[in-house]
Amino acid sequence: MEKTDILSLTYDELSKEIALMGEPQFHAKQIFSWLHEKKVTDFEQMTTLSLQLRARLQEKFCINRLKIAKRLASTIDDTVKYLYQLSDGNYVETVWMEYHHGISMCLSTQVGCRMGCKFCASTIAGFVRNLTAGEILLQIYEAERDMGRKIDSIVLMGIGEPLDNYDNVISFMKILSDPKGRGMSLRHVTLSTCGIVPQIYSLANDVSGVTLSLSLHSPTDAGRSEIMPINRKYNISEVLKACRSYIKTTGRRVTFEYAVIENINSAEQDAKALAELLRGMQCHVNLIPVNPVAERNYRGKRKTAEQFQRILTRLGINATVRRTLGSDIQAACGQLRRNAHEEESRR
Ligand code: SAH
Repeated sequence: MEKTDILSLTYDELSKEIALMGEPQFHAKQIFSWLHEKKVTDFEQMTTLSLQLRARLQEKFCINRLKIAKRLASTIDDTVKYLYQLSDGNYVETVWMEYHHGISMCLSTQVGCRMGCKFCASTIAGFVRNLTAGEILLQIYEAERDMGRKIDSIVLMGIGEPLDNYDNVISFMKILSDPKGRGMSLRHVTLSTCGIVPQIYSLANDVSGVTLSLSLHSPTDAGRSEIMPINRKYNISEVLKACRSYIKTTGRRVTFEYAVIENINSAEQDAKALAELLRGMQCHVNLIPVNPVAERNYRGKRKTAEQFQRILTRLGINATVRRTLGSDIQAACGQLRRNAHEEESRR
């Protein structure tokens, strides 16, 4: 019988499993804390449990690991990029970033992506599979073990569309924030989405405190549908309505991501249309000169992004141009994983 992946279980799920084994509930608390607070890698290390119980757990469950296949440390700042190999041989990427206010990690939620955004390297080879809650957590745990330090905040902006792997992402957040384990406030978690509308409404009800970041990238439906296929399913007006509702339910400000692409969405009239669209919303616009992707000839210029920002600011919209960290190891998001696959197929 295949063993159950214990790191993917929320406290309630673990507690049910422990009850089924006929064991008292306080053991569920101990185990959850060993897994998510002390981050043990083996049942042997759960020294507050009897040897007999450790052996029973070993029979029924497994504690997975991720292998660090590549570790790229920036020489300009303290950014480190990890390429992890999953137990089935697939790869995902994670970035460790140090700011003056603390350490943040950018995590992946899927192997590949099926959203098809034209400017994004993670989607070009298509979708392989969802990550489990445990695999999302392990991106943090392995890096913390490697660095010997703890992180302060998380952005779900790596490979994949988090709202397309909704259940596992919610389990991940429940495990992360459970006071019986790590107890991290979800106010330190930002979820970035291309705009899967029904799940934006669900998110507001299922977990509390998460900062929503919406990848907008164009102020018009014609322009957005051209670069983001999801817009043909949920258009700008539906997405913004969901964002307004998210702000109302959670009291949190929403961030809009806007990758500035020369000759595509970078004109003065685009900035004006964007300001018009977001007027009166409790929000912030994050501008980023688009990272080049091999297959497309999209170009991003910092100067254009700064001009765009000045127009937005003048029109009363909060906007910043995102600071780039680890630019020497950047290789636009999703590139490391693609290179690893290409290397393997050449062998
Ligand atoms: N699927 C989610 C999260 C992953 S992408 C989403 O769409 O939001 C994280 C952010 O990086 C998104 O805002 C995405 O649009 C942006 N992005 C992807 N490729 C990019 C590129 N080549 N240059 C700049 N930003 C990019």
